[in-house]
Amino acid sequence: MTSFAALSANEPELGRLRASIREFLHADRAEHGWRPAVDSWLGQWDQDFSARLGDAGFVGMIIPKQYGGQGLNHLHRYVVTEELLGVGAPVAAHWVADRQVAPGLLAYGTDEQRERLLPRIAAGRYFSSIGMSEHTAGSDLAAVQTKATRTDGGWLLSGTKVWTSGAHLAHQVVVLTRTSPPDPDHRHAGFSQFIVPCDAEGVRIEPIRLMNGEHHFNEVTFNDVLVPDVDVLGEVGNGWHQVTSELSFERSGPERLLSTAPLIVAAIRVLSSGPTPDDRTAEGVGDLLARLISLRQLSVWVARMLTDHADAANQAALVKDLGTRFEQDSIEVVADLVDRVPATPELAELLTTARLHKPVFTLRGGTNEVLRGVVARGMGLR
Ligand SMILES: Cc1cc2nc3c(=O)[nH]c(=O)nc-3n(C[C@H](O)[C@H](O)[C@H](O)COP(=O)(O)OP(=O)(O)OC[C@H]3O[C@@H](n4cnc5c(N)ncnc54)[C@H](O)[C@@H]3O)c2cc1C
Repeated sequence: MTSFAALSANEPELGRLRASIREFLHADRAEHGWRPAVDSWLGQWDQDFSARLGDAGFVGMIIPKQYGGQGLNHLHRYVVTEELLGVGAPVAAHWVADRQVAPGLLAYGTDEQRERLLPRIAAGRYFSSIGMSEHTAGSDLAAVQTKATRTDGGWLLSGTKVWTSGAHLAHQVVVLTRTSPPDPDHRHAGFSQFIVPCDAEGVRIEPIRLMNGEHHFNEVTFNDVLVPDVDVLGEVGNGWHQVTSELSFERSGPERLLSTAPLIVAAIRVLSSGPTPDDRTAEGVGDLLARLISLRQLSVWVARMLTDHADAANQAALVKDLGTRFEQDSIEVVADLVDRVPATPELAELLTTARLHKPVFTLRGGTNEVLRGVVARGMGLR
């Protein structure tokens, strides 16, 4: 394969997969009537859609067949997620479980945990949230204060997490805690991860609403929550390593470029349905698509690295930095392009949602400023 072809993810097998997910999405939308949405992986929680997607074999692409998944690789998952986001499908319910929790369980989970959780994730019927950030621990995650103390047969969790996306609808939250006191010489030592059901006794979930009232994330308080030993994820004390090694999955995927794709598509449709676009419009659209295609190639490259089990942390951080800035820029470029043509109600709605969600693109999953620090350190620059 040429290096250019490697950046395109167009192998015949992937092409067939792309055709089949497109067919599914076309038929599913026709039958169930969901509408393409901007930032659908955060905002569009539809558990029936996730279940139908699971039944059709498009969730759990990288989960081995023995656990109910498709037994495929990151490139197959890439193709499927790209198609889902391109049409703004309502994917939020299964997103975190499929993207992050499944690889975490495969890397660090016990056999019992894998057998218990992976088949339900692959079926698109088990949803998870991630409890890492706290009021005083965002970019500086090593400042996490939620703690777990040993008790008979398990651990007692106490503390408060914030910005926990989807916890009010999910089955479980994967919580990062301190299991031993901070050591100033080893700031990343002494963390552990726990799988906690959202309805466990002592878990309180309070909404944090966006300014238009949308409810996506939460403050989650753990008040002496008893977590049995079977729900420790990975090794006690190895939490930092586990969490950071998951970040490449979280940072490099199509969701870091395509959150506004339905807006771009709707704008191009509107522009191409009127009189022949002037040079400025054609240039604007061309520029937008050229940036998108280049970013896609970087993102595909990271998917290939992950498929080869290579360390892609720096590359993933770069994709997220460049991709999320593109997402933000694309909104005002589109607004400018469609300013001179009558907007359809669909386009106007997509533009409003995009503007509302715009600030979060460069924050979630690690802010861009922090990612640049990660890349600089990875390159030995500081
Ligand atoms: C939509 C959305 C969903 C989220 N979902 C989840 C979730 O499900 N689970 C979860 O645990 N968290 C979640 N988060 C939290 C997210 O990971 C944090 O917001 C992020 O890590 C930044 O932390 P912070 O908000 O505390 O900002 P801070 O860390 O306080 O940063 C404030 C500002 O200072 C800058 N800054 C901080 N440190 C440095 C540095 N070293 N160098 C340069 N600049 C720096 C940052 O770039 C930022 O601009 C979500 C956030 C958003 C917006």
